Amino acid sequence: MNQRPSHLFYQGRQRRPVLDQARGVYMWDVDGKRYLDGSSGAMVCNIGHSNENVLEAMRRQMEKSTFGYRLHFETEASEKLAAKTAALCPEGLNRVFFVSGGSEAVESAMKLARQYAIAVGKDSRWKIISRAPSYHGCTLGALAITSYDPLTKPFEPMMQAMPKIPAPRAYLDGLDPEDEATGHHYADMLEAQILAEGPDTVLAFIVEPVGGASTGALPPPKGYMERVQEICRKYDVLLILDEVMTGAGRTGKFLACEHWDLQPDIIVMSKGFAAGYVPLGAMAAHERLVEAVLDAGGFLHGYTYAGNPLACAAGVAVIEEIERQGLVQNSATMGAKLMDRLEGLMQRYPIIGDVRGMGLLTAFEFMADRKTKAPLPAHLKAFDRFVNIAYDNGLIVYSRRTRNGVEGDHIIVAPPMIVTEGHLDEITQMLDTSLAQFTDEIRPELDK
Ligand code: PMP
Repeated sequence: MNQRPSHLFYQGRQRRPVLDQARGVYMWDVDGKRYLDGSSGAMVCNIGHSNENVLEAMRRQMEKSTFGYRLHFETEASEKLAAKTAALCPEGLNRVFFVSGGSEAVESAMKLARQYAIAVGKDSRWKIISRAPSYHGCTLGALAITSYDPLTKPFEPMMQAMPKIPAPRAYLDGLDPEDEATGHHYADMLEAQILAEGPDTVLAFIVEPVGGASTGALPPPKGYMERVQEICRKYDVLLILDEVMTGAGRTGKFLACEHWDLQPDIIVMSKGFAAGYVPLGAMAAHERLVEAVLDAGGFLHGYTYAGNPLACAAGVAVIEEIERQGLVQNSATMGAKLMDRLEGLMQRYPIIGDVRGMGLLTAFEFMADRKTKAPLPAHLKAFDRFVNIAYDNGLIVYSRRTRNGVEGDHIIVAPPMIVTEGHLDEITQMLDTSLAQFTDEIRPELDK
């Protein structure tokens, strides 16, 4: 299998089995091996695979039309999805712009924010502050506000440097995430950064409400998001929420911002928004921004596939399924049960140094020493090895190195929101087996 030739190089030199089919929470390769999709791909397939209602809605749309260029036609599907999206967003965010993925949604938000500033006579504002580490996409604009060295370093000369503030990793800094003082401590770093840059130069702050790929399912400490919003308002800095991973029910609310009753200026979504059925992303913006930009001559931005009717029809059907099956609630309920199970595993496996998450976006982080929070040495490539062991055991999980790309390994467990307790039992069992194997494999190397 590993010797077969390929024109693809997604995974470097590593090879993966060939996918045959997927149903619900399971996937099968062409050799008939079954996997439980414990990370919904990359936190994408929120409603599970091959949902018949979504497939049927896509079939119906395909028979009508599969493409209408956005400058030539409006479509029923895009209108309907825009209305549904706006209804699910905080008040005022009632203008929606469709794209084909998360990076495109982030680029769109950056450009809308900038055009808004120009439209209202604040041309000096162009800096977008983000957090370190963070992940907002791989196109050069989105990469400039991303902080993840392995992906950003080579491209630095090609990008406009953007300011960063530390992500609120209370668990590493020895602070209590339940204490409001902790939330304020990290949020106040935003104020300090705005002042250091000069408020008149700062356009926006972009943040993942619950840290995703870069920080590993990291909820903000108490009081953090509210304080961040206060600071943005004080300095007239736009608040952009990157809900590419957290949106569409993943954290136990349709949008994670509902946990803190936030009123952002822009929200970007993708991943679970069309749940992997088609490439789709969206930017929902406050009408105040959009009206100003339209009055000033229009938004200078747009992709050929924006508002594609097939993608939008799938998006509508996905949201309808989330609503029909009560999947947001299931994400909250099953997420709490999954956290309990991960905490149980942490009690049994000292190599797990932290467990965290919100809804069905959960993670555990490996540490060599829980007390000192020392990470596993980088050369062990723990995250890769654990993922491969789990994979061999039939469980798909998602991992990245956590600590600014230099050290630290977290594993994200984020199954489709249709999971039952039975599925959670299966996931826990496979994690247990994999952790036992992983610990055995790694211990002699650690003791060296
Ligand atoms: N923002 C966040 C928070 C993400 O998690 C991702 C993808 N991991 C992106 C943006 C980029 O999305 P895409 O890969 O669809 O371009």
